[in-house]
Amino acid sequence: MELKNKRILVVGMGRSGLAAAKFLRRHGAQVTVSDARSAVALASEIPALVEAGIMVEAGGHGLLTFRRQDLIVVSPGVPLQTPELVQSRAFGLPIIGELELASYFLRGSVLAITGSNGKTTTTTLIGEILTASGQPTQVGGNIGVPVVELIDSDTQDGWSVLEVSSFQLETVERFHPRIAVILNITPDHLDRHGSFENYALAKERIFHAQTADDMLILNADNPRTAACAERAHSSVWWFSLAQPVPRGTWVADGRIHFRTAADAPVETILVVAEIPLKGAHNIENALAAICAARLANVSTDIIAQVVRGFRAVEHRIEFVACHNGVEYYNDSKATNVDAAAKAIAAFPAGIHLILGGRDKNSTYSDLEPLLRARVRAVYTIGSAAAKIESQIRGIVPIQSCETLERAVAAASAAALPGEVILLSPACSSFDQFANYEERGRLFKQYVRQLAGHASPALAETSR
Ligand code: ADP
Repeated sequence: MELKNKRILVVGMGRSGLAAAKFLRRHGAQVTVSDARSAVALASEIPALVEAGIMVEAGGHGLLTFRRQDLIVVSPGVPLQTPELVQSRAFGLPIIGELELASYFLRGSVLAITGSNGKTTTTTLIGEILTASGQPTQVGGNIGVPVVELIDSDTQDGWSVLEVSSFQLETVERFHPRIAVILNITPDHLDRHGSFENYALAKERIFHAQTADDMLILNADNPRTAACAERAHSSVWWFSLAQPVPRGTWVADGRIHFRTAADAPVETILVVAEIPLKGAHNIENALAAICAARLANVSTDIIAQVVRGFRAVEHRIEFVACHNGVEYYNDSKATNVDAAAKAIAAFPAGIHLILGGRDKNSTYSDLEPLLRARVRAVYTIGSAAAKIESQIRGIVPIQSCETLERAVAAASAAALPGEVILLSPACSSFDQFANYEERGRLFKQYVRQLAGHASPALAETSR
């Protein structure tokens, strides 16, 4: 794609929007960025943009700004239903995202991972395995580093391992992963996508431009994910916790196996108990990562060695401390009901569960069987508290705590030795925190303060 002198508007000054604007400017485009946030809120970004010769519009979007363009690059945080975008589309202006833009310029192969949950864990694990195999590997996308920032360092024989979200996938047309993974599709972001089916269709765009030479790895145990096979043009591979698959990875006899065809020899990769992560969902993540790594030609030995040494990514069922015999886990990244369900299922009974934050039009009563079986008490926080309480009333004792700090104090006062205090809130964090990372860090800080205030005989340990 020729960028020189093209008029390009970047909508949204998040991390990927800013990176896209700078990339486009460096390649000679006439770039404007537009953001609904005020110039004051964006004060730390504006000078560098102006210095680079990028025009900046803050505090709203002017309609004319959207008309005089050859291309619009929209940030994943900006809904496509934004009126200015709807009009631009009606005028026939191409609208793409930073992922699509970057994919035009990547030279090597792309291995892309999506799903409602498990993306970051699986992306990180695949990145570590490919790196250990000695192939040039870089990791980016939704996980942190914008994809445009991977372009300069990409090589023809290299891999870009990309975590991609439904918001990024909504705007892809030609994005073309050599290997695509869909971990699971369960309800999330219904506030933005409108319906579960719209959300699932956004996820399906990960394989929309794949060809017969590409590979698609699907979760055989998740019905909506498995159904994607019907529409794939690429070769479909499977992973399953429940049963052998014709080709891909599965668990049997406590071991992970791989094969390339139903009549091909079975390779045994490792013993499930050797995986150091908690919960069956993390075995699914490992199955997907192992299948992807085998398809990228990594040897069984290297895969097994990296998986055995892999530790939980921060804020994903992360062990924080054991205090008075009670274990504290930070699962702040569980921002939807399914993620919280998986975290609850990772522990036996005796869980004190902190739930709440900003609601995403979710159904918390889906947690009922797990709450009954494993949770001693729920501590609610944030703006979703009243809704959560009304949906789970009568199932387990509930304490309304409003703030995370009070929830940690209340749960630790109630928990008995051998029990677990789990922050797995099933909601986004934006009502009370900057993001889930801040929520997780504060949780850890409150837990450590609590341990610090206890008598010296009650030691805090870390693992
Ligand atoms: P994502 O990047 O998709 O948000 P993460 O790896 O960051 O995924 O995990 C987010 C949360 O989702 C974790 O805290 C965990 O509770 C839950 N989770 C992780 N993997 C899975 C999975 N395969 N299925 C369901 N839930 C999962």
